[in-house]
Amino acid sequence: MDKTATKTLTTRDCRDCQQCCIIYEIEGIKKKARENCPFLNPGVGCTDYGHRPVDCKKFECTWKKGFGNDEDNPKICGVLIMNRQSNLMHNGSRMTYIASEIYEDAFKSENGLAAMARVSEETNSTIIMMDYDNQKIISLCKGDGVV
Ligand code: SF4
Ligand code: SF4
Repeated sequence: MDKTATKTLTTRDCRDCQQCCIIYEIEGIKKKARENCPFLNPGVGCTDYGHRPVDCKKFECTWKKGFGNDEDNPKICGVLIMNRQSNLMHNGSRMTYIASEIYEDAFKSENGLAAMARVSEETNSTIIMMDYDNQKIISLCKGDGVV
């Protein structure tokens, strides 16, 4: 259970999303960011599921964890949000939320913005947004607006 959550979470079924098998770099299998994983059978799933890297085994986006609404599924809304623990020098550790654009300009779309706003509100966290082209921080989303 995510300790920052302000609602009771129910894990969701990924269905045919598969976006985390495309968006992220995975060093262990030399998978580059924003390329289909060599083990991905699009629309079907992982062809080496039993031997998938530990990063794959551990990964759950915020939608899969139960944040947001059903229509906020990454493949539908165009934004994939993950969290990770950050160790801050003076403030101990805290959860950081990072949103990646799946489709160009998804951050500007009504669905993408709504999905980020819901996660931000439900986690009471600021979301760091990584843009489509070069994966750099472009902005922060907090509550119902981009700041
Ligand atoms: S991005 Fe989330 S919903 Fe989509 S396949 Fe990965 S964990 Fe499942
Ligand atoms: S190894 Fe399997 S689970 Fe991991 S990214 Fe590739 S297709 Fe997805």
